[in-house]
Amino acid sequence: MDADEWEERYAKAYESISSSISNVRGVFVAYNSNIDAIKHIHSGDIERLLKNLDIEKVQEKIYSYPRQIDTPYDFLARLLIAMRDGKAAEVPTYSTDIHEWLTDNFVFDSARMGGQAGIISNLLASMDMKRVIAYIPWLSREQANYFVESDNLVHPIVRDGKLELLHPTKAYNPEYKSKVNWIIEFPKDLKVNFGEEQFIVPRNNRLIISSRPPWIRIDISDEVYSHLTDFCGHVDGAILSGYQMIKEDYEDGTTYKDHVKNSVDLIESLKACNPDVRIHVEFTSIQNKTIRSAILNDIVKSHVHSLGLDTVEVANALNVLGHEELAYSVISKGENAIISLYEGAVRLLHGLKLERIHIHSLGYYICVASTDCPVTPEDHLECLLFSSCAAASRAIMGDIKHFDDIEFGLDVRISQKGMDEIEKLGTYLVRQGVCSMDEFRDGCIRTPHHDVLVNPTKVVEDPVGTVGIGDAISASAFVAMLSKM
Ligand code: ADP
Repeated sequence: MDADEWEERYAKAYESISSSISNVRGVFVAYNSNIDAIKHIHSGDIERLLKNLDIEKVQEKIYSYPRQIDTPYDFLARLLIAMRDGKAAEVPTYSTDIHEWLTDNFVFDSARMGGQAGIISNLLASMDMKRVIAYIPWLSREQANYFVESDNLVHPIVRDGKLELLHPTKAYNPEYKSKVNWIIEFPKDLKVNFGEEQFIVPRNNRLIISSRPPWIRIDISDEVYSHLTDFCGHVDGAILSGYQMIKEDYEDGTTYKDHVKNSVDLIESLKACNPDVRIHVEFTSIQNKTIRSAILNDIVKSHVHSLGLDTVEVANALNVLGHEELAYSVISKGENAIISLYEGAVRLLHGLKLERIHIHSLGYYICVASTDCPVTPEDHLECLLFSSCAAASRAIMGDIKHFDDIEFGLDVRISQKGMDEIEKLGTYLVRQGVCSMDEFRDGCIRTPHHDVLVNPTKVVEDPVGTVGIGDAISASAFVAMLSKM
């Protein structure tokens, strides 16, 4: 297919999913949501912050490279490093002290829904899904206000022994505190004076200070769990995310094993309720290899049907599953990175016993599906094209407010770079005897072991925002797939 033929396929895919999406009766989404406090750095902001701090101490921290933020010095060190290198970074903080210091000294410009489950719940509710059941273990009053006002969005709450499904603003626990992440965006070309030094920020990017208060648990409460059968019969799919917050040990004596078990129990109960339910896990970067391995081997493997992730996350997953060389090749950005990505996807699909794996990259997606998946490869491809429209639409508008907004994504041009990249994969697959070039260019490749879908995507040149686009891609492709089952 050339670019024009892909555009036609895109339009057809959008039409097709528009008419099938109402087949989905309900989607369950858990666990993580937070409030994102956003601050855009302007000229003079850094110098102002430094005035009240000991510059030498900041310098020492820059050398020691703090891995977590406990003090304003840790914060400034990581911010200056990120700005100097123009690199994105995410650093955890385990107390709320730095949040208070930032609120007093920095003042955020705006705040919005953050966290994969929060973002996905809002997106699906806005896409007019029949029912979105969000479950956030730490739903506070302030957090609840960041959910879109929509009748199809509910959260379970047990009152007087009875389960109710209410909008999050009616289902929060007044005793819970909020989890606030800081997103500090810095612009290219900003001049920064730091003591005797001066540098110019080479690239637009951001530093995220992610809040990990000790009370965070990636668990469903016993109360709600005991009433699961009251609502899960009408759940066709579940999207689970936030596993990166699981810790090895907790103050209450529990370990990650207890929380992994809690999650597996939930998944198995959802399946017992509706044997046709499909479970999707949205993967993310997880530094701790014990946790990363437990999530993949103990939660995902054999329990979950679908996995969504970006290229770096593919490398991370391969790394803990014993494919170090392949992992290295995926992130090497070399000529053959896309081939390694495809090989990695195949290994993850079979190694983790998945039904589908969907990898998103800037310019193209790769999805590998098992041959016994009840959805045809053609339908899978339509789901991918639909999700690329959703991504483009989110990049243009910053947010999707109605299903029809996704159609705006159709106007965005297909990435030529993406077309060129996937051509390399095509050449490889033809050389391997997997398919002919015509079959490859058609986007659906059938092999005796699995089906492969590869498509170029629509890339917005000047996106309004890019946070949560990955979540939007995975979630919209997954619900589109549910609608085709
Ligand atoms: P996040 O966690 O912020 O969603 P990810 O790395 O998981 O980030 O996902 C980012 C994905 O969003 C990329 O893989 C790419 O497919 C898509 N994307 C990023 N920028 C754009 C853009 N300008 N236009 C279209 N898609 C984009």
